[in-house]
Amino acid sequence: MDLVVKNATLPDGRRADIGIAAGRIAAIEATLPTLARTTIDAGGALVAPPFVDAHFHMDSTLSAGQPRRNESGTLLEGIAIWGELKPTLTQELIYRRARQYCQWAVARGLLAIRSHVDVSEPRLLAVEALIQLRRDLKESLDLQLVAFPQDGLLRSPGAEANLRRALDLGVDVVGGIPHFERTAADGAESIRRLCRIAAERGLPVDMHCDENDDPGSRHVETLAAETMRHDLAGRVTGSHLTSMHSMDNYYVSKLVPLMAEAGLGVVANPLINVTLQGRHDSYPKRRGMTRVPELMAAGLCVAFGHDCVMDPWYALGSGDMLEVAQMGLHVGHMTGIAGMRACFDAVTTNAARILGLDGYGLAVGCHADLVVLDARDPIEAIRLRPARLFVVRRGQVVARTEPTLPLLLNATTGDQPVNFRIE
Ligand SMILES: [Zn+2]
Repeated sequence: MDLVVKNATLPDGRRADIGIAAGRIAAIEATLPTLARTTIDAGGALVAPPFVDAHFHMDSTLSAGQPRRNESGTLLEGIAIWGELKPTLTQELIYRRARQYCQWAVARGLLAIRSHVDVSEPRLLAVEALIQLRRDLKESLDLQLVAFPQDGLLRSPGAEANLRRALDLGVDVVGGIPHFERTAADGAESIRRLCRIAAERGLPVDMHCDENDDPGSRHVETLAAETMRHDLAGRVTGSHLTSMHSMDNYYVSKLVPLMAEAGLGVVANPLINVTLQGRHDSYPKRRGMTRVPELMAAGLCVAFGHDCVMDPWYALGSGDMLEVAQMGLHVGHMTGIAGMRACFDAVTTNAARILGLDGYGLAVGCHADLVVLDARDPIEAIRLRPARLFVVRRGQVVARTEPTLPLLLNATTGDQPVNFRIE
């Protein structure tokens, strides 16, 4: 063995040692001999497969404040600022910021990211920069790219040609934004065209879909129907789907089974959805996140995405998928034991399924990618958002964080370490 992780607590609660050879998990047993080049003693800590972000924007990340801050906090001001920023961007600037973000991600145990990349700009600077980054960092993390026509496929001249060129250059997934087209009919037409392109090229689809508070925004229905028409089940994802929050319950009772029949993947972006949606409401203010627990109960694969970190739409974030899971848990009222565990799955196994990652998971034969968390189980991980003690990629330790234990300074009783756990 090249590496043995001793005394691991797996996400399902089993205790085991994990043996790694040639970049793969070679054994998971109650006890393994420590005859390895390297041994990590997890000491009963949670060892999970790495975090996966099913929805991100790598071309705008770490640009917050350029050229100005989003004071209204709305999607539309964000799109306006992005429009002001785009002409000033260079390939080198996009690459540098995205690379810095990927370093944050790896340090947090986030080893696979699906990033949408804006293809509205005919020079395709961001596409070139992120394809380069995908190549340069492939030893460290999996970066998957989605051709995203931010300004609309039909609404923006030349968008379809740009999108096809981006796919020719090696972008992995067909994106879209039907609710941003000029009319609902154009939105539906954009879905038909994009699904046809995906079917012709054998590619997956992941669209920003119905990202608004309009209960009449029903493009996900067309997305499900086109998925079935082109036999794309298991390859199509609807991202955001926030209008479902506001839809009539009777309509949803018909829609959800259709989505399940089509095998749609769903990505909610809780940090962004709760921030951007409900902005036209006075009180009560809608939360805006799609119906996560109900979609999960209907058997759909639902993941959470980070969506944005320090960009025109969202000023916060640090690449910590446990922060995303924690917000999803709150916004979705997923406070039962099963619900909290499902939120952990939404940033690990479910997200890996959406990305179609090969060899993902803690099982013999899978890639030796894992994260040792300073927590005892997935629920404690969400509660504490603790240190990533070790991050392992293909059997190599790629990041470490020391556990943090604050000291209470007390003149009479001496310094006391503070443990945020009930023993
Ligand atoms: Zn997005």
